[in-house]
Amino acid sequence: MTRQLAMVIDLNKCIGCQTCTLACKSQWSDRDGRQFMYWNHVETTPGQGYPRGWREAGGGWDGDRLKPGRLPRLREDYGFPADFNYDEALFREGDAPLRPTQPMLWGPNWDEDQGSGEFPNGFFFYLPRLCNHCSRPACQAACPRQAIYKRAEDGIVLIDPERCRGYRYCVAACPYKKIYFNPLAERSEKCIFCYPRLEKGIPQACAFQCVGRARHVAWRDDREGAVWKLVEEWKVALPLGPEHGTQPNVFYVPPLSPPPLDAEGRPTDAPRLPEDVLVGLFGPTVKAALARLEAEIARRQAGQPSAMIDLLIAFRHGEMFRLDRPQPKAKGQGEKS
Ligand code: SF4
Ligand code: SF4
Repeated sequence: MTRQLAMVIDLNKCIGCQTCTLACKSQWSDRDGRQFMYWNHVETTPGQGYPRGWREAGGGWDGDRLKPGRLPRLREDYGFPADFNYDEALFREGDAPLRPTQPMLWGPNWDEDQGSGEFPNGFFFYLPRLCNHCSRPACQAACPRQAIYKRAEDGIVLIDPERCRGYRYCVAACPYKKIYFNPLAERSEKCIFCYPRLEKGIPQACAFQCVGRARHVAWRDDREGAVWKLVEEWKVALPLGPEHGTQPNVFYVPPLSPPPLDAEGRPTDAPRLPEDVLVGLFGPTVKAALARLEAEIARRQAGQPSAMIDLLIAFRHGEMFRLDRPQPKAKGQGEKS
């Protein structure tokens, strides 16, 4: 049976600083045809995201059948980094400004902080995204070469570069567009959940470096871990796009929001983030998750204890990562399959 390592990201604590993005990029994807790849990135939501329009690009499952998906375009949707006129601007006489030598069409942070809504009631939040190391990966099912596999020891989804022929069926099949085609290596590549770090007992770079203490890492079946408590016990952490059927193993604590203002500038009772935006991302159970979060916050504000809020505050950084494997429970003790 596959043991599964998983992550919970608390969207109420993500400040969009992109430290996780750079921690990942500088470690894994800053050269060799990977320049446009962001195995982890943070996008402003609502927005087109990265690659542009990924939510309308298809993929995932329709029951037992893969849904068709389209390939993102290198310049238009990913925004392959442009060259700049360094020679002209820096090494020749004159005052030519530094400028890109081709039009830049998009990028991983292109619509940062645009969001939606009208002043003074605009709204957005930050959505960190990485491969979900799904339990039912569409990328794996779409590969005719069986080049994609899920490690039995930790559930991490990886690509065997020796088997991959760069057909890109996996790229189209992933509904999160979190698998990329490397045009230099002519094969697909993706987030590896930092398995070389994990094998040395070090958490993923994105999680370990997160300045917001927004990311928890634990095994799905570890009942003392944050993933079990937030996902299974308290049900306040949800997968992104559950309707795609891939069964993600990255979960999100959905964002609360301050009330919008009425015409006289007085706060109203409604949440600022429209419910349909959150339901569209996390499914209908997001409403109950937000209600539970609000109830726990109210308890805490009333001076009562709340294990959930203590866990989400993350007083001690080291306790956010439980990488040691829990022993499987004996049959009948309710271990999750
Ligand atoms: S998020 Fe996409 S690339 Fe990652 S395992 Fe799931 S289907 Fe595959
Ligand atoms: S490092 Fe943490 S707080 Fe900063 S953008 Fe990434 S997830 Fe958000």
